Amino acid sequence: MPAITNHMPTAELQALDAAHHMHPFSTQTQVAEKGARIITSADGCWLTDSEGERILDGMAGLWCVNVGYGRDELAEAAARQMKELPYYNTFFMTSHVPAIALAAKLAEIAPGDLNHVFYAGSGSEANDTNLRMVRTYWAEKGQPERNIILARTNGYHGSSVGSGSLGGMAGIHSQGGLPIPDIHHIPQPDWWSEGGDMSPEDFGLARAQELEKAILHYGPERVGAFIAEPVQGAGGVIIAPETYWPEIQRIVDKYGILLIADEVICGFGRTGKWFGCQTLNIKPHIMTIAKGLSSGYQPIGASIVCDEVNAVISACEFNHGYTYSGHPVACAVALENIRLLEEEGIVDTVGAETAPYLKEKWESLLDHPMVGEAKIVGMMGSIALTPNKDTRAKFDAEAGTVGYMCRERCFANNLVMRHVGDRMIISPPLVISKEEIDILIERARKSLDECMAQAQEKGLFPA
Ligand SMILES: *Cc1c(COP(=O)(O)O)cnc(C)c1O
Repeated sequence: MPAITNHMPTAELQALDAAHHMHPFSTQTQVAEKGARIITSADGCWLTDSEGERILDGMAGLWCVNVGYGRDELAEAAARQMKELPYYNTFFMTSHVPAIALAAKLAEIAPGDLNHVFYAGSGSEANDTNLRMVRTYWAEKGQPERNIILARTNGYHGSSVGSGSLGGMAGIHSQGGLPIPDIHHIPQPDWWSEGGDMSPEDFGLARAQELEKAILHYGPERVGAFIAEPVQGAGGVIIAPETYWPEIQRIVDKYGILLIADEVICGFGRTGKWFGCQTLNIKPHIMTIAKGLSSGYQPIGASIVCDEVNAVISACEFNHGYTYSGHPVACAVALENIRLLEEEGIVDTVGAETAPYLKEKWESLLDHPMVGEAKIVGMMGSIALTPNKDTRAKFDAEAGTVGYMCRERCFANNLVMRHVGDRMIISPPLVISKEEIDILIERARKSLDECMAQAQEKGLFPA
């Protein structure tokens, strides 16, 4: 068989891809029909595909390439570490310098007394750790019946059995017998689609109080933890009304349950501060991190745990861990990535300059006839597509029909913007410049126009 290179004709690569590569979250027969877009290289915020097209990556890969593509420092950190110590484990009383150095650094930048790091290979694995850790915590404290974990509908925490159960995605729950027992979901704070006649403020409060209702329903002596993303990412960049998080915090404190903030997307500058819980003033006992931790250059995730939970877990043997927990190459790359975010002032620039600029431009899309809501925090934003802004109406078609059309127009216009149902979402690299933001908005607007014309042809949007 010939070597598979970037320089094979696209059609041949697509055929091999469809024949042998099973894609995540895809219908494989569709991959075979249409052919995947094949990305061959990338630099800064720009991807290059096998046809030589340059595409603006409005999603930073999967929300992860915070420092942008093509950073030699990260490649060199990996190469240095591979030569010195490519692998060693952290089981059975052993450790190594990259795992130690990264844990100490994470303890320094994480808020409050989140001082203890349990490594994983991904966000899903880290949330599986959290599930077992909080149940072990309560068992060790003599309350083993306190094993219920509350989570949210349309939350995303990964797609392994544990993390997929914590998540509230119907599509994931419908396959493989999820959720596992003693995980229950409360409705999400999505005012646009579920707020009805309530004001956003009242709705935010009401949705937060669903947590208290659930605690009282199952019994406060049964509920151990609540897990949520500070801002829902995969669910469609849902930013809760301002009344939501203070009320959640009040309820969590009142009943003494553990709060797990899933910062896999929000962490490492995405919301304009280092962590989403700082932007939203939340005080979690555990944070899940991954994605921006290494800017996606290496697969790594972790749980950052507060002093109290650590003290309890430390007293027992926690029978949990992964071969690649604290992988030295991944840790070395993550450490270098954090150095870039810090020393180049990337997080500070997002907060002070580029995020406010993006916000202004993003919200300007509200004047488009098909855009009913434009929400953004830091470098994660969403718009809701609708046939009628005043009534927040849904299209007269299966949810996601128009969103998919819009995404296809974006693709054709060399912009990566994702759709979740009929919401369009962005999460660009944090290093995106004002000029590149202008290009993003220009291409988004062009795609919206083309999508609207198509929707009109199909009778889905008033002519
Ligand atoms: C992506 C994501 C995960 C899962 O991370 P993987 O590395 O894909 O396993 C978990 N939580 C949130 C909020 C995510 O966005």
